Amino acid sequence: MVLDAPGQPLHEADVPQPVPGPQGVLIRVHACGVCRTDLHVVDGELPEPKLPLILGHQIVGTVVASGEEVERFVPGDRVGVPWLGYTCGVCRYCRGGRENLCDRARFTGYQIDGGYAAYTVADHRFCFPIPASYPDLQAAPLLCAGLIGYRCLVMAGDAERLGLYGFGAAAHIITQVARAQGRRIFAFTRAGDVEAQQFARELGAEWAGDALGPPPEELDAAILFAPAGELVPAALRAVARGGTVVCGGIHMSDIPSFPYELLWGERVLRSVANLTRRDGEEFLALAPGVPVRTEVEPFPLGTANEALDRLRSGTVRGAAVLVVDEGPNAGATGAARGPGPS
Ligand SMILES: [Zn+2]
Ligand SMILES: [Zn+2]
Repeated sequence: MVLDAPGQPLHEADVPQPVPGPQGVLIRVHACGVCRTDLHVVDGELPEPKLPLILGHQIVGTVVASGEEVERFVPGDRVGVPWLGYTCGVCRYCRGGRENLCDRARFTGYQIDGGYAAYTVADHRFCFPIPASYPDLQAAPLLCAGLIGYRCLVMAGDAERLGLYGFGAAAHIITQVARAQGRRIFAFTRAGDVEAQQFARELGAEWAGDALGPPPEELDAAILFAPAGELVPAALRAVARGGTVVCGGIHMSDIPSFPYELLWGERVLRSVANLTRRDGEEFLALAPGVPVRTEVEPFPLGTANEALDRLRSGTVRGAAVLVVDEGPNAGATGAARGPGPS
């Protein structure tokens, strides 16, 4: 499914099978998660995507061929491909353990063709082995919603009372991790979104309500997964002195001006950008033990536009995943929660 230019729907096309370079692996794609970032690319909110472009940065597939310098994976291995597709390894950020901020980073499904396709090529150094207990569909959302959600959770510090704004793919995963850590979850959704509020409670949120309304008590931190700038002052208002507000998305509408009083009291407002490979290793090691169970809504690859529309309208329960090739580990293809890790 190819994007020719922002603002246009994706269209189905036959394209040449990509060829891996010396560090590349050719992957037969089984499933690819749909992310809010894909919508930002389609909508032209992120500058200068590769065009034409194959979206998708939550890829689960099987290695079918590898470049001459690849020793880590062999054909038949099941791998995951995340958003971070390449870093230079030599800039100040890379050398300082902050490769997510690399000067020359390149991103899957944005500057590198991604997983809305039968085959893709990825640099093996940025791929992850997929925990065996996860079927393909249930593994896909771990690769961005999970990894970047996890980085946001770490940035929220040791907050006990944690607010999550926007209860989609990332929040439904991070709620499970945070509950396992003994935190209390307060879920904020669009006004009147009873289904999302119910979903949040099912996953362990002790309170769920409207995003702009006050929470029942002060929060110690908040993570914003929804890309709405007006949530920033709302979240600052909801956190206690010394609390942190983490903006987890790559794009957000403009933040309205607000009185300094909302930031005063050593409140911290920060963004989280991308992921490091260390985030991925930590999260994928932790997820099976929680265990994180992802709830996915499958869409055939050819209906990617419909999946994007559903994400835009906020009507996906859990995570939308494109089913590309139903291999032996495909997992549940119904809307019900899959078997998850054993
Ligand atoms: Zn770098
Ligand atoms: Zn993403």
